[in-house]
Amino acid sequence: MVDLLGQYQRIQPEIDDSIRQVIESTEFIQGPAVRQFEQELSAYAGGTPTVTCGNGTDALQIAMMALGLKPGDEVILPVHTYVATAEVIALLRLSPVFVDVNPNTFTLDPAKLEGLITSRTRAIVPVHLYGQCADMEPILAVASQHQLHVIEDAAQSLGARYRFRDGRQVFAGTLGTVGTTSFFPSKNLGAFGDGGAMFTREEKLAATLRMIANHGQRQKYQHDLVGVNSRLDTLQAAILRVKLRHLDEYESRRRAVADFYDAHLAGLAFLETPYRAPYSTHVFHQYTLRTRGVDRDALKDYLQKKGIPSMIYYPIPLHLQAAYRKADKPEGSFPVTEELSRSVLSLPIHTEMDEEQLSYICEALARFA
Ligand SMILES: *Cc1c(COP(=O)(O)O)cnc(C)c1O
Repeated sequence: MVDLLGQYQRIQPEIDDSIRQVIESTEFIQGPAVRQFEQELSAYAGGTPTVTCGNGTDALQIAMMALGLKPGDEVILPVHTYVATAEVIALLRLSPVFVDVNPNTFTLDPAKLEGLITSRTRAIVPVHLYGQCADMEPILAVASQHQLHVIEDAAQSLGARYRFRDGRQVFAGTLGTVGTTSFFPSKNLGAFGDGGAMFTREEKLAATLRMIANHGQRQKYQHDLVGVNSRLDTLQAAILRVKLRHLDEYESRRRAVADFYDAHLAGLAFLETPYRAPYSTHVFHQYTLRTRGVDRDALKDYLQKKGIPSMIYYPIPLHLQAAYRKADKPEGSFPVTEELSRSVLSLPIHTEMDEEQLSYICEALARFA
């Protein structure tokens, strides 16, 4: 699905040099590369203050802690997402309230929000899934009307831009109260281990995020808040500084792969190529097809036999997972997500794919028909 070795080899001297510098400095925790990376990532994200942390799951947790969400508070999130989004809500003893997604965009359906809001609702967590922004303008409108926080999960969409109806473009993760992202190795900006970051335009909130990520301390041994130990390693920051300089190029390589797939798969009646929403750019973390009238799992097996990897994101919807099941949300409660769990299939997409690989995959798919 990805070629992390090939990607490393193209920038090996730069990466090796920055790793060596950290090792020789021995400043493994909170070394200067961490703040430098934060500043560079902030500049990349339109100047939004940025705080790094240990991973993208912690980023969501720290955001919810910093907003002072209390046990029993309800947090609305799409049911079609990676488990981390729901996990931190449950872990903090908040109450996850699932909402179905739009079948074309795979993201939270804003039309379904109003009916879910109660006196206990505190926040909405839109997930910018597969590399494209959720439709933020209506989500922000509902949030503002009900005075709810918006925590954007931009783990899969760093670099995507949301287009407001008036033409304004804003980076994913910088539209709501707080935005979070992940540097898991296979994400669009991947570290050589775990990493994460949070964005917020509110300076005071940024300071709180920073404290919580580092044991709630304002300065060493002065703990004003209950926090966690979730810091980005200096080594990862040094690696990410190098890779951030290549992120725009990585994005255009991914888009070229998506364009190739679109052009070569458009004629196949049993596949629906990804919808590109008019309100978002797409950074193609995933290239996710919907299958139609064929057995998706048989297609996956067929590709596997041809040496072509593919993945299902996500095979079991969250409301049907043992850890998140609720009696009042049985199978059938979220029909779009349930249908997607049976029909989606993601093809390999990464920065190192060449035309030969792409042609091979597209020809194999054409022959499946
Ligand atoms: C990857 C991911 C996360 C979690 O990030 P980690 O760095 O792996 O903890 C959260 N939400 C979504 C949508 C993700 O894809």
